[in-house]
Amino acid sequence: MELKLYDTLTREKRVFAPIDPDRVRMYVCGPTVYDFAHIGNARPVIVFDVLFRLLRHIYGDEHVTYVRNITDVDDKINARAAERGIPIRELTDETYKNFQADVAALGCLPPTVEPRATDYVSNPGASVDMIRLIERLIKNGNAYAAEGHVLFDVPSMPDYGRLSKRALDEMIAGARVEVAPYKRDPQDFVLWKPSNPSEPGWDSPWGRGRPGWHIECSAMSAALLGETFDIHGGGIDLVFPHHENEIAQSRCAFHTDVMANYWMHNGFLQVEGEKMSKSLGNFVTIRELLTGWRGLPWSGDAIRFAMLTAHYAQPIDWTDNRLAEAGANLHTFHLVGAKGLGLTDETDLSTLPEIAHGRPSDRLLQTLYDDLNTPAAIFTHFFSLVREADSKSGILETPARQLLIDCLFMGIDPFRFYRTQMAAFDTHKIQMLIDQRTAARKAKDFQESDRIRDELAAMGVVLKDSKDGTTWAIAR
Ligand code: AMP
Ligand code: ZN
Repeated sequence: MELKLYDTLTREKRVFAPIDPDRVRMYVCGPTVYDFAHIGNARPVIVFDVLFRLLRHIYGDEHVTYVRNITDVDDKINARAAERGIPIRELTDETYKNFQADVAALGCLPPTVEPRATDYVSNPGASVDMIRLIERLIKNGNAYAAEGHVLFDVPSMPDYGRLSKRALDEMIAGARVEVAPYKRDPQDFVLWKPSNPSEPGWDSPWGRGRPGWHIECSAMSAALLGETFDIHGGGIDLVFPHHENEIAQSRCAFHTDVMANYWMHNGFLQVEGEKMSKSLGNFVTIRELLTGWRGLPWSGDAIRFAMLTAHYAQPIDWTDNRLAEAGANLHTFHLVGAKGLGLTDETDLSTLPEIAHGRPSDRLLQTLYDDLNTPAAIFTHFFSLVREADSKSGILETPARQLLIDCLFMGIDPFRFYRTQMAAFDTHKIQMLIDQRTAARKAKDFQESDRIRDELAAMGVVLKDSKDGTTWAIAR
């Protein structure tokens, strides 16, 4: 079996071959930390976490280095900190912590390194930092200083635009490039800009100022992964100009043919068929989904499951339906696992070594090796295991166990929700209400029995009546 990945630069699905199998290197553009991360931001984090897990499986945990940066210097950050009257560092520390907690709840492993941009503006301990990288670009004739700014000289790079494959005039129009008197060419982009006394700034050969956004990733990836590395990822919106400019900076600074060998981009996420925006009222943060979305908290596992039901490179429409369906399917997996292995709702799968460290099935690996085909893993493979498990005499243990092992391999734990949320349910009160409802039904007081059912539904509890009595489950 060979891992194949779609590469945006060559526009083809290619067999993945790392430069050094003992040190597989991946860089993914992380969040700009000024507010809670939204569900669109969660997509690259989840998608590249699946890839990280897969690479660790293939090459060994200690042979994979995954760098995901934190952009903690940015005009939006400056504006928000000023609005709240707090120092920038306080805002970014708080937002960064929230981000880490949110993505951990989505089952994402921490990356190997999470560098903060502000630590790499000037960093004598690193092999390269932003100021030194800019100096190099000036020395190589690819950048120039003007009026406190430093600009990348786009015409100095003959094959600029290869990643996005757009004609230069189209790129200029598309990016609404700023025409400024200090620019030699309208498409030149900022590497360094001056800061006024109220803005964050660093001393530099060009005066006190701060870096442009693109240079951050070129500096951090080179410092932590080297001048050329294996995989560079991020959302499709970053192809132009961000990744195009990262490539220009890194290749011109280090005189290399490529910055990364595989460029991977996740498709965009829309909400209920529309671009997410605060003004449309369809803006959804990860935190809202986890703590209470339209009345119900969702488990990180259900959110992750829903996200992986679409292929990463395709657009995804984030709907309540998709989430509800994911929750229901996860509930089925939970039941199959519980019945097949005799586990209880409180079971912590990560403490069951044969499950947590069980070998993922070849069928699962085959789908993931095919450019991370997670929808096939879920809808074809997982459901065939559910069908295999479902025998006349009860749930079979072997396919049930494999289902849990394969779910955990994708970072989905069908038991976690029950473990963490059951504690929040007053089971004594629920049973009391169920008994009262049974009595009301016996007395043919259907108004009262319906009222009790609704009261339970409002608590997030659904009832199932059968000839053996009434059982309950957490509404998902
Ligand atoms: P930002 O904080 O906006 O720089 O974005 C952080 C990451 O989230 C980048 O990789 C973006 O491409 C990605 N991203 C932002 N919005 C969306 C969206 N609606 N759908 C998919 N990815 C997104
Ligand atoms: Zn970046």
